[in-house]
Amino acid sequence: MKKQILSTIVIMTALFTACNQGTKTTPIQNEMEKPQEFKYLLEQFADLKIMRYQVPGFDELTLQQKKLVYYLSEAALCGRDILFDQNYKNNLKIRRTLEEIYKNYEGDRQTNDFKEFVVYLKRVWFSNGIHHHYSTDKFTPGFSPEYLNELISESQGGSFPLDKGQTISDLVPEMTALLFDPEIAPKRISLDSSKDMIKASACNFYEGVTQKEAEEFYNKMKNPNDTTPISYGLNSKLVKKNGAVQEEVYKVRGLYSAALEKIVYWLEKASAVAENDQQKQVIEKLIGFYKTGDLNIYDEYNVLWVTDKSMVDFVNGFTEVYGDPLGMKATWESVVNFKDMEATKRAEIISANAQWFEDNSPVDPRFKKTEVKGVSAKVITVAQLGGDCYPSTPIGINLPNADWIRKEHGSKSVTMENITYAYDQAALGNGFLEEFCYSPEEIELSKKYGSLASNLHTDLHECLGHGSGQLLPGTSSEALKNYSSSLEEARADLFALYYLADPKMIELGIVLDTNTAKAEYNAYIRNGCMTQLTRIETGKNIEQAHMRNRQLIAKWCFEKGQAENVIEKVMREGETFYKINDYKKLRGLFGQLLAEVQRIKSEGDYEAGKNLVESYGVVVDPVLHKEVKDRFVKLNIAPYGGFINPVFKVTEQNGEITDIKIEYPEDYTEQMLYYSKNYSFL
Ligand code: ZN
Repeated sequence: MKKQILSTIVIMTALFTACNQGTKTTPIQNEMEKPQEFKYLLEQFADLKIMRYQVPGFDELTLQQKKLVYYLSEAALCGRDILFDQNYKNNLKIRRTLEEIYKNYEGDRQTNDFKEFVVYLKRVWFSNGIHHHYSTDKFTPGFSPEYLNELISESQGGSFPLDKGQTISDLVPEMTALLFDPEIAPKRISLDSSKDMIKASACNFYEGVTQKEAEEFYNKMKNPNDTTPISYGLNSKLVKKNGAVQEEVYKVRGLYSAALEKIVYWLEKASAVAENDQQKQVIEKLIGFYKTGDLNIYDEYNVLWVTDKSMVDFVNGFTEVYGDPLGMKATWESVVNFKDMEATKRAEIISANAQWFEDNSPVDPRFKKTEVKGVSAKVITVAQLGGDCYPSTPIGINLPNADWIRKEHGSKSVTMENITYAYDQAALGNGFLEEFCYSPEEIELSKKYGSLASNLHTDLHECLGHGSGQLLPGTSSEALKNYSSSLEEARADLFALYYLADPKMIELGIVLDTNTAKAEYNAYIRNGCMTQLTRIETGKNIEQAHMRNRQLIAKWCFEKGQAENVIEKVMREGETFYKINDYKKLRGLFGQLLAEVQRIKSEGDYEAGKNLVESYGVVVDPVLHKEVKDRFVKLNIAPYGGFINPVFKVTEQNGEITDIKIEYPEDYTEQMLYYSKNYSFL
């Protein structure tokens, strides 16, 4: 599971961790260049901003660790094409066509049309395809079909990706249809359960099969008595061939072989410089999985990975299932990282007390884990992002996803602090808080405690929230179907929100007082009721799981607390504000809702889950939506952000690596073209 940024607009002046209580500067502050010297925000276009992050501590790693990071980073870049293809079957061809135009167009490159073309190409790179990375709607080019024709025909030197027997003049109508026809692939993921969700979704996990056929195919495989089921369907495309439904497995010599062979090549190098035996085994299991596609080996890999405590660590594989409307098939992603020792202490305190948190949660005892196992939490420094984590990245990750592995072996939970830090730095002074906070006190609170609050929220969400609770015997982990992601994220968020204000947090020395919780409560309600709407297109409702969950929580608490005026909606000069009047009671409401969402998950109560999400998480108030968007436009802030990667400069002597330095490029287009040239294998 991934935790995404609560709002791209986190503005903090000082970043300090709880463990040192603000008296000492953190390693981040020590090692990162001063914000004014390091450019975090690189550019903005459409609704996106491109940033970059620093990797403090890299120079202090041993040469062997640096090599490991480097090899894993190469592996992280080799899967880029896989994701493009998974997102939509024509994405690679489209990307290549656009890149050839970009490199070869001989006409006037200063016109407005050409600028619009460049924006479109940048969006395709950002989304790893032609659908918005967040809303999953196909985005429309800001230029005309006629102009596309001109671009292609005036790019004579281009080596366009033509199919067998296809000519450039055939390419024009094909591309015109793909880019401009609103009927073709309008949405990457459709979660509209009244339709065949496979048919309504453009993602490339199924071909020629209906939703019913896919569900039957997998239901037949499943044995309800199997307590350690593999993640059925995770690493394959389901197709119908000669009338039979069958899987095309992602593996070496299978689907995506060319990219997977490269990934394996770099993983083999990584395995040779692993920090210890266990990590070596982890990498070798992953190689074995890529070579065979065997999901049993994948589980063995995860079991080993989850207890690997090495300094350098990684995610690499078919991991998250958000991209599949049926929630089975995983997109490829990678994150290479190493431990931030200082900040990890904070997460370790939380994790060491996991059982206390579980025992004292407001959840029905039947749904609690009697023994919380191995909730390992750490704060990491990201060194490279790939696949579905690039350029748009989560800020926290909790893996593996298989319920039984989590229950029996625990899960690994990470907070990506150099990423959240870069977000904060890039957002400094953008005017967002001033616009949407109710009072100067609220702004102050946010500036002072917001960064710590959101990092703590992430720690609690990832290392306790997702790991808490249990299903009643006989409840299927898929019972909540298309609502499961939203409800699971709600559960983890509620756990975090409930405990942020617990006196235990002060007792453990994680926070000094209740201000941190207040700052987070303000931010959460403000975002869930109002500011996240900046990310929704006018006329649309909410579809994305994390956003549904946030509105669900905020609106439910607003409604349930109305009689006692817990949260007040205030109008001031035609502008809406949400003001929390009673933080204690709000915490009580978070607890109540947590108990209910846990019940829904534990019992697999699909109807109640559906009702909760549909009643509170989906529908957007059009009047408020317009107001919020208008206020936001004034600030000229891109609502979504992503990061370009650092680059490793390798020094070799007689074929041996003697040193690796890290550099921070500034040009998004250059990086994308470089990746397309050097890491495109499909
Ligand atoms: Zn989560």
